[in-house]
Amino acid sequence: MKPKKVTQPYLWKLFFVTFFVAGFLSLFFSANANAPLELKRTLHPLPEQSKPIKESSQQDAPNEIWQEHVVKIRKNGSLGLALNSLNISSRTTRTITRLKNGHLLTNLRSGDELKIWVNKHDELQKILYPKSQTLSYELIKTEDGYHIHEKREPVEIRTETASGTIKGSFYIAAKKAGLSARSIMNLSDMFAWDVDFSRELQKGDTFKVIYETKYLKGKYIGDGNILAAQITSNNQKQTHNAFIVREGNKVIGYYDENGKNLKKAFLRSPVDYVRITSKYNPKRFHPVLKRTRPHRGVDYGGPRGTPIRTTGDGKIIFRGWGNGYGRYIKIKHAGKYTTLYAHLSKFGKFKKGSYVKQGDVIGYMGKTGRVTGVHLHYEFLVNNKHVDPLKVKFPDAEPLDKKYQAEFKKSASFLLTQLERLDSHTNIARSFE
Ligand SMILES: [Zn+2]
Repeated sequence: MKPKKVTQPYLWKLFFVTFFVAGFLSLFFSANANAPLELKRTLHPLPEQSKPIKESSQQDAPNEIWQEHVVKIRKNGSLGLALNSLNISSRTTRTITRLKNGHLLTNLRSGDELKIWVNKHDELQKILYPKSQTLSYELIKTEDGYHIHEKREPVEIRTETASGTIKGSFYIAAKKAGLSARSIMNLSDMFAWDVDFSRELQKGDTFKVIYETKYLKGKYIGDGNILAAQITSNNQKQTHNAFIVREGNKVIGYYDENGKNLKKAFLRSPVDYVRITSKYNPKRFHPVLKRTRPHRGVDYGGPRGTPIRTTGDGKIIFRGWGNGYGRYIKIKHAGKYTTLYAHLSKFGKFKKGSYVKQGDVIGYMGKTGRVTGVHLHYEFLVNNKHVDPLKVKFPDAEPLDKKYQAEFKKSASFLLTQLERLDSHTNIARSFE
C-alpha cells in the first residue's frame, strides 16, 4: 500500500521539528557540559555519608596542635562529665545533646572509651566513640557546627564448611567440627519443624554445613549466616536439606531442595526453652478446683518473666483479663486458627488489634488468674475447637515467593553439589572454594 499523499507535508514538518529540537538540545547540553560543577552536584546529590565534609578547624589549626585524650566512662558517667574533665565548656555538651543524632554520643555505658581531640583553647575538635568492633561514631567540627556520623569497618565474609558424624550429642560433634554455639543454635532453629535434635539424632547420623564466617582485619570475629545444611536423622534413614534465600543482607528463609519452606505456619512452642508441666488432657483433675476439669491446652514451666512468643503470624483479637486465665492474649491467624496465651505477668508492646509476626514477644510468663505457680497456659484452636498443640499437624508456611524461584533453583543445586562433596566422616573444617 502506497502512503497517502496528504501525509507528506506532515512528515516534512516532523523532520524539521526533530532536527530543530535535536539541535537545540545538543546546544543546551554542550552549554551544560561547561557549567560549573555545582550544577552537576545538584543533579546527582551524594548520599549523606559520603558527602565530603571540610574540616575547617583542621585547616585553621593543623592537626599537630590538637591534643588527643582517651577518656574512660565511669559508672554513672556521661558525655558531659567526660568533656568537663578536659575543661571543655558545658555549652559544647549542650550543643552535642541537641544534635538530631546526639543520642549516639550521649548513650554511653560505663567502661566505654572515648577518644577526644581538643585544640589549644580547650575547644572540642573531634570525638571517636567505638561502639563495637565494627561500628564507631565520630563527631567532627565543620564550618556549620558539629556533626556526628557512623564509621563502619569493612567486614570480610568467608565461606567455610563443617561436617561430622554424631557420636555422643549433636552439640559436641558440631563444636568439634568448628561450628560456633550461635551456628549450632541456628541449625537447630532451621530444622526445628522437621527434626527433634535431642531425640531423633542418633549415633552415626551425619551433618554437613556450608556457612559464612566474618573477619575483621584478618581476624575471625564470628559466624555469619548458614548458607546450606544437610543432616540425616533416625539412623541415617532420613535426609534433610536446607538452603538459604536472602535479599541483600536480609534472610528471607530456608527452603528444601524443592523450594518448600522449612518453617511451618506455627512454632512448636511459644517459649524458647521448653519444659512442659501439664499436657492437653480432656479429663484432667484440676488441682485448684478439686474436680475433673478438662485441660484444653499445654502448660509450660519457666521463671517468671520468660518471654512468650506468638507461634504464628496473626492479629491480636483479645488482650486483657479473664477469670481463671488472668492476663491473657488471644491471636487470630490466617484460615481457621486461633491461639491463646494465659497467666501472663505482663503484656508485650503489641496492643489489641496489632498484627504480629511469628516469634514476636507478646508477653511474659507469670501466675495471674487461677493458678498455683508460674507457668504459661497455651491453647490452640482450629475452627474454634480446642486441639492438642503438641499433636496438631501445622499447616506449611508460605512457599518461596515466585520472584526468588529461578535464582533459588540455581543456588540450591550448586550448594547441594557442594554439600554432597563434603565428607562427613572427617571432622575437619576446610576452606570452601
Ligand atoms: Zn493450663
